[in-house]
Amino acid sequence: MAFYTKPSPFDCIIFDLDDTLYPETIGIGASVKKNIDLFLIEKCGFSQTKASTLRVELFKSHGSTLAGLRALGYDITAEDYHSFVHGRLPYDLIKPDIQLRNLLRTINQRKIIFTNSDRIHALRVLDRLGIKDCFEQIICFETINPNLPNSTRPDEFPVVLKPSLEAFKIAIHAASVDPRRTLFLDDSVRNVAAGKEMGLHTVLVGKKGKSKVGEYVVECVNSVELAQVIPEIWGMRMDDDDQKLKLARTNSELDAMLSAFTAVGA
Ligand SMILES: [Mg+2]
Repeated sequence: MAFYTKPSPFDCIIFDLDDTLYPETIGIGASVKKNIDLFLIEKCGFSQTKASTLRVELFKSHGSTLAGLRALGYDITAEDYHSFVHGRLPYDLIKPDIQLRNLLRTINQRKIIFTNSDRIHALRVLDRLGIKDCFEQIICFETINPNLPNSTRPDEFPVVLKPSLEAFKIAIHAASVDPRRTLFLDDSVRNVAAGKEMGLHTVLVGKKGKSKVGEYVVECVNSVELAQVIPEIWGMRMDDDDQKLKLARTNSELDAMLSAFTAVGA
């Protein structure tokens, strides 16, 4: 049977990092929450009960505890906050993910990380997963908040984070991509909704079934899920009964791609 392909509609794939490229269930997110509560108690003087409530309130109102605290006038640097909250995380819970690495290697498009986390955390997570060299670029807290280190008072430059459209505008500019030809994967409904508003093709990660928000939904980022739900990443594959598509690759090129892909999915 001869295969025909249609080029992929995506020139670039942008991935969120935390709870997208590794599962929430391993416990990193829970540790982050615990550390934020400790930060609020030890550095800002809140009670234990108030700390947990405030963390949730500031996340909803400002996107993160750091953003909320600075907006409220707390003179906390991003470096101090991140080193406290991320510096003591149990990174050994993140194991090398060979299957994810192999999957990423079958994707020929540009691959970029877009995370609200700081660069040190992003690099540590990618290093632990064994996929750091799979990405062309890391767009992180420092990329979307370039002016923050120069601020003379806490509320001078509001902290910018997903899901604000400003964060997406900076990321799209930094990545130099056409949103209409870019696929964006994130586990946050709010981030996916914002990405969609910016014209990106969107994938909601970590859910089942259909979503009103994401164009696509996958339970996790693995080869089986992506191949079933978004085969367009690799270009459409059709057999020779379909007359609508033109031959776009030689059979030998396609065979090589399929065998690599099958090996990953096995
Ligand atoms: Mg996430």
